[in-house]
Amino acid sequence: MKRICIIGSTGSIGRTTLQVTKWLSGMFKVVGLACNRNWMIMAEQVIEYAPEVVAIRDKEASEKLVKLVGEDFKLMTGDEGIIEVATLPDVDLVVIAVVGSAGLRPTIEAIKAGKTVALANKESLVMAGDIIMELAEERGVRILPVDSEHSAIFQCLEGRDIGELDKIVLTASGGPFLNLSKNEIEKATLENALNHPQWRMGKKVSIDSATLFNKGLEVIEAHHLFGIPYEKIDVVIHPQSIVHSLIKLVDSSYIAQLAPSDMAIPIQYALTYPQRYESRSADYEMYEFNNLEFIKPDTEKFPCLEIAIEAGKQGGLCPTVVSVADEVAVNAFIEDKLGFRYIPIVLEKAIENIECGRITDILDIFEKEEETRNFVTSLIKGGLK
Ligand code: MG
Repeated sequence: MKRICIIGSTGSIGRTTLQVTKWLSGMFKVVGLACNRNWMIMAEQVIEYAPEVVAIRDKEASEKLVKLVGEDFKLMTGDEGIIEVATLPDVDLVVIAVVGSAGLRPTIEAIKAGKTVALANKESLVMAGDIIMELAEERGVRILPVDSEHSAIFQCLEGRDIGELDKIVLTASGGPFLNLSKNEIEKATLENALNHPQWRMGKKVSIDSATLFNKGLEVIEAHHLFGIPYEKIDVVIHPQSIVHSLIKLVDSSYIAQLAPSDMAIPIQYALTYPQRYESRSADYEMYEFNNLEFIKPDTEKFPCLEIAIEAGKQGGLCPTVVSVADEVAVNAFIEDKLGFRYIPIVLEKAIENIECGRITDILDIFEKEEETRNFVTSLIKGGLK
């Protein structure tokens, strides 16, 4: 039995991960669960999966949890509590399902502790890709991608000589605004932006999909995860979200991975790798997909895509600045404090005004994160709206 823990168990990926462990009954023991503050969902998970250790970052929320379900487990709080779950001594696999920069520390600590990491958090690789990949190599730790595109590339590359690779092609659904005009996109409401045509995801990722910023983050993620230069990473819009990504080989052949748009599939592959098992996802026949389109992305309509990729190419602390600026801007949009059209403007202003030097130590990243958070927060408060 594989002993696993999930950091960010109450979010969209965390919940699906638990579903998968239930379907594959007898294969996994859920040892530890960690979340930020959603004690209600955590209470359900504690009752259903009986973890040995639970961490809730927010102390008040942890007290509410204990009041509701008792304390038949080891309870921890704060960032330290989350790290402790990510590094539990008798755990084989750590799933990092946290959204945003909060995923960075648990990812690093899990790798340091020698755990196999199933990584759904993009920001950790975006902010500290070099450090994480180096550390993983040093400790002999495997990082298994959970993101559907990276899982697809991972599967396409398996057993292949990297010298045969011409490029990788990440597919993007194009989000809910693919067929709107620039003008219409700029007036988008929260409800419009959350209404993703193919995927049901958390709010942050849904809005990043609507701006295509998400795909920019995924380009940076792919660059680090597979050690592929930016010139060899393409993005193509594929609205049906059936082809999850492709690789092109030097002889002009494309190899792709196709599956229904269901995160349970890449999650399951990361959990059971290198084996495959039956899944509970909808079955399909190829003739049901008789109209698969591939379209060049429109960077005029979706400027966030290029802003993110450019930050990746600049390297150093640039991806941290742009990623944290987006996190703050998207939260402000969710809270109705910022219009949709200002998200790329906030990113550009952050890049312009914040110095992005080299990374000499992981602490540089945390410092830059705080600086960016403060800058963007006061920028938005100052009436960008
Ligand atoms: Mg993705």
